[in-house]
Amino acid sequence: MDVDLVVAGAGGGLAGALRTAQLGMDVLVVEADEHHLRGNNTSMSTAMIPGAGSRFQRAAGIDDSPEGFLDDIAAKTGGQADPRVATALATVSAELVEWLADHVGMPIELAGDVDYPGHSARRMHTLPGRHGSVLLQCLTDAVRAHDRIDLLAPARLVGVGTARTGSRSAVVRYPDGRSEEISARAVLLATNGFGADPELVRTHLPEIAGVDYHGSEHSRGDALRIGASLGAATGCLDAYQGHAAVSAAARTLVTWTTVMQGGLVVDGEGRRFGDETLGYSEFAALLAAQPGGYGWIVLDERINDLCLSFTDFRDVVDSGAVRTADTLGELAERTGMSAPILAAEVAAMAAVARGDASDPHGRTHVAAPLAPPYQAIEVVPALFHTQGGLLVDEHGQVLDTAGAPLGGLYASGGAAVGMSGHGAAGYLAGNGLLPALGLAYLAADHLAAA
Ligand SMILES: Cc1cc2nc3c(=O)[nH]c(=O)nc-3n(C[C@H](O)[C@H](O)[C@H](O)COP(=O)(O)OP(=O)(O)OC[C@H]3O[C@@H](n4cnc5c(N)ncnc54)[C@H](O)[C@@H]3O)c2cc1C
Repeated sequence: MDVDLVVAGAGGGLAGALRTAQLGMDVLVVEADEHHLRGNNTSMSTAMIPGAGSRFQRAAGIDDSPEGFLDDIAAKTGGQADPRVATALATVSAELVEWLADHVGMPIELAGDVDYPGHSARRMHTLPGRHGSVLLQCLTDAVRAHDRIDLLAPARLVGVGTARTGSRSAVVRYPDGRSEEISARAVLLATNGFGADPELVRTHLPEIAGVDYHGSEHSRGDALRIGASLGAATGCLDAYQGHAAVSAAARTLVTWTTVMQGGLVVDGEGRRFGDETLGYSEFAALLAAQPGGYGWIVLDERINDLCLSFTDFRDVVDSGAVRTADTLGELAERTGMSAPILAAEVAAMAAVARGDASDPHGRTHVAAPLAPPYQAIEVVPALFHTQGGLLVDEHGQVLDTAGAPLGGLYASGGAAVGMSGHGAAGYLAGNGLLPALGLAYLAADHLAAA
């Protein structure tokens, strides 16, 4: 036996490598992209990780629990989230963020100033700068410092077999075409989903297939192909995280906190077209359906100042993508919107904020009315990542079509069925990183007990 665990993918899977090594086992991480520190989804993320009932929440006086989180998941997904996975992840979430702080040494802090659609408590944990590059750097530094973990990159997992010992073998291919077979007690598929494979996206996610893809180019569906070759079952392949707030000019995420703090999303003429607070993921397809497939986030200086804690938002501001004007008429001139339509939308939302009117789209959460000077950022819809994948149990074990575990094979993150049910609307903030880090962590615990 070469190692106890081969982890394929150095994104969220690194949490599984670190947990496995902490439990006294040897790990080999194989990573297809030598630039993964800047190129994978974990590195591109906003680093928001939910932890329900954590000590960070208690210190901030926030009362939360896995049960409360599960209720939110059930409400957002219409009860369609995989129950085993959702329960396991909601239950481990607080332990996970505390472990990242205590064992990995991450400067974890509660994002106590932001609300996200569908979360009934402020339960996002993050790092200073609120960017996944910091998160991934911390994970990678800890991996490199651990003498039980080797990280091999670039090296692509191309197959998983069964070794003569009854354990697994991982077939790895190098860029020069050479291949190597490594024997291991188990393999963890942490290779993300299939967002970078246009054919698979067209097949499973036709409603979002035409928009920009804003995720890792290495999310090519390798886990699906490898899983299929072993008889694995799949689930929720139509699930995805979209986003309706990618800056058209900067091609960087404008945080949805702009909206949750009172901003509006309007079409090219300045007209709202839905309740923005339901969720940014489902808003992507709505935005794509507007004339020209673009829109604007209308905000003000108060909101702008609040969002500067997000690295991505600062990048958007620094790129010059924010248009500012003292009046809505001037803002309309600078953006090509219709002044009367924009003014009517802002006035109507101010009335909702004051409690004087109800919103025809059903929006009830308006932090405050917009005030001059006004700002606007042009946005386009994007696909961030796919959410369905290989069916797994509460330990991250990959299941066959009869529901039995395929021994020695685990999946996490975008490679596995997520906790978002079907379509785009089930995505709650944090539903990407929690399965990525959490299923990898749970797989390590299971392997240690096996
Ligand atoms: C802009 C943006 C912001 C986001 N913000 C958040 C957020 O705040 N909170 C949240 O929960 N989610 C967020 N997400 C989603 C989140 O980033 C992903 O769901 C999560 O990072 C997926 O982790 P992963 O480990 O599955 O994939 P990745 O982090 O992409 O890692 C997979 C790795 O596997 C490698 N790989 C692929 N195939 C192979 C192979 N065959 N062999 C070896 N290696 C391979 C890839 O190169 C890659 O490094 C965001 C996504 C985007 C795009």
